[in-house]
Amino acid sequence: MIPTPATPTATYNYPNRMGRIILLSMEEIIGRNGVNAILKLGNLSSLIDNYPPDNNELDFAFTSVTCLTEMLERAYGPHGGRGLALRTGRACFNYGVRHYSTQMGLTETAFRLLPLSAKLPAGATAFAGLFNNFTDQRVSIEQTEGKVLWHIERCPLCWERKSPDPVCHLAVGLLQEALYWVSGGKVFNVEEKTCIASGDPTCTIEIVHTPIF
Ligand SMILES: [Zn+2]
Repeated sequence: MIPTPATPTATYNYPNRMGRIILLSMEEIIGRNGVNAILKLGNLSSLIDNYPPDNNELDFAFTSVTCLTEMLERAYGPHGGRGLALRTGRACFNYGVRHYSTQMGLTETAFRLLPLSAKLPAGATAFAGLFNNFTDQRVSIEQTEGKVLWHIERCPLCWERKSPDPVCHLAVGLLQEALYWVSGGKVFNVEEKTCIASGDPTCTIEIVHTPIF
């Protein structure tokens, strides 16, 4: 893979397919008209009825991803917008990201037979690889006592944003749903503890090993 130069002017992107998944997932939550209103509000009208194609080209800018969730907050209020971003994240997993699961080795018998305590870190590592290998997003995994920390080091959800509170709720929703799927229907406590938008070095999402139910 060709390394992306880390200059301040560098633009970072998601693959078109992921941009498409986010827009289609958001449609499931707020409807086509809702998405169109968000696109207008964010000066992204060129995407109306013109979603990115279903391919792996890195052509959906982090600025657009961030803009979508920021406009959700503007249109529905900070609280409402963040709830919708969370639900969009959950839908994203079911809409498309799950289809990468074979590539990630998560459907192999060896993985399925692992105990839950081993499955979570192994699944998180494989899932992080998906972002690191196919997108400009950078994720590292840290394991601590009873927790997995998902560190987003370069984050498409709060790109150039400033906020007193963490804002990467779409990622929280995506991880919640991924964990639900990987554990065969268990619900985990998933929380964004730090956020680059708040001046922290990483957007860090904490996953507690023991399911809530
Ligand atoms: Zn972030």
